[in-house]
Amino acid sequence: MTTRCLIIGSGPAGYTASIYLTRAGVDSVLVEGLQPGGQLTQTTTIENFPGFPDGVDANELMDAMRQQALNLGAVVRSDIVKSIDLSHRPFVATLDGGETIQAQAVIVATGASAKYLGLDDEKKYAGMGVSACATCDGFFYRKRVVAVVGGGDTACEEAHYLSKLASKVYIIVRKDYLRASAAMQKRVSERENIEILYNTNTVGLYGEGGVEGAHLVRHMGTEQEERFDLPIDGFFLAIGHRPNTAFLDGQLALDDSGYIKTDGMTTATSVEGVFAAGDVADPRYRQAIAAAGTGCRAALDAEKFLAANE
Ligand code: NDP
Repeated sequence: MTTRCLIIGSGPAGYTASIYLTRAGVDSVLVEGLQPGGQLTQTTTIENFPGFPDGVDANELMDAMRQQALNLGAVVRSDIVKSIDLSHRPFVATLDGGETIQAQAVIVATGASAKYLGLDDEKKYAGMGVSACATCDGFFYRKRVVAVVGGGDTACEEAHYLSKLASKVYIIVRKDYLRASAAMQKRVSERENIEILYNTNTVGLYGEGGVEGAHLVRHMGTEQEERFDLPIDGFFLAIGHRPNTAFLDGQLALDDSGYIKTDGMTTATSVEGVFAAGDVADPRYRQAIAAAGTGCRAALDAEKFLAANE
């Protein structure tokens, strides 16, 4: 299959790029990826996406973006790009089943995924008490005790959300301070059932048939080191995200944290004709509306590139 522009990813960035390119009459194909709709499909209501005075259900928002693209005539494929050859144009993407798509331009909008601590127990208890999404799984912990790992805005937001469901929420923070914004810290401090455990690392989980507690270490590696067990029913990761770039196999320049580097105000990457939009190139803002904005910019950049180079 050939197309002028291949869009990889189906979050707000991918769909916005698709809407813009389709309206501009640029033939494009959007490949949805592993998680159609992207990270937003893991949350519930969004209150900060402009245009929805009463908030909007995140899944409905993504369905609406997809439908808007389809109504305009977009081509959307339910598939996964396993690898891509960016060494010359046309670029060649290989899909899960082996089929290839040739494209003169590519927009990478593959987003980011939640990070895990790397403990074997996280895998052992996956879906049995370990989660990286409070809004997806918080419901299962009504009136129970949970812990959230991390000290950033995500950890505080997740803890605040969980505190309305669970009887008790611990936030496990490895340093002696929270990195979260003052506003978020205030929200957390106002909840009586949230307790913050500073200077604390998680080294394991325990339980039969599900999480029953966490093995923790306070002041790890110092003279005051203290090991203790914290009985909990749920263990939530909120230690940041990793951009989804593995399929690029090192062909695009990345920053120190693995996000795709873009050129100044544009979405241009280190390879001419390849553009990046959304969280995969955004270590800073990580908001749906920001991703949609860069999706628009990537489409305009790709359109301009195609006009000049075909
Ligand atoms: P951050 O990178 O800001 O914070 C990650 C937190 O996890 C830090 O406290 C970090 O600790 C901790 N951490 C990282 N690795 C480990 C580890 N191995 N063990 C224990 N703790 C660890 O990520 P967030 O996801 O919180 O936020 C990302 C961006 O998104 C930020 O810019 C944030 O402001 C934004 N955001 C905004 C929201 C909003 O405004 N509503 C909501 C959510 C996110 P340490 O400090 O020691 O490095």
